[in-house]
Amino acid sequence: MIEKYLPKTYEGRMAHIAEECAEVIMAYAKMQRFGANHSHPISKERNIDAFHRELKDLKDIIEIFEDNHP
Ligand SMILES: [Mg+2]
Repeated sequence: MIEKYLPKTYEGRMAHIAEECAEVIMAYAKMQRFGANHSHPISKERNIDAFHRELKDLKDIIEIFEDNHP
């Protein structure tokens, strides 16, 4: 995660969790549609690696959320 894009408020962190949930679902759907080993034509990232990257993003923002609850 890029520090400058991390949300500063409780509501911002909740919105970030929702965004990352959507990205996990999208990565999962893409993997189901095209296959885990299919690669993005430009980035060359495999779908399974994109799924794990999004899972890590989600876990990271949940940890930040839990560490900063009011
Ligand atoms: Mg993400």
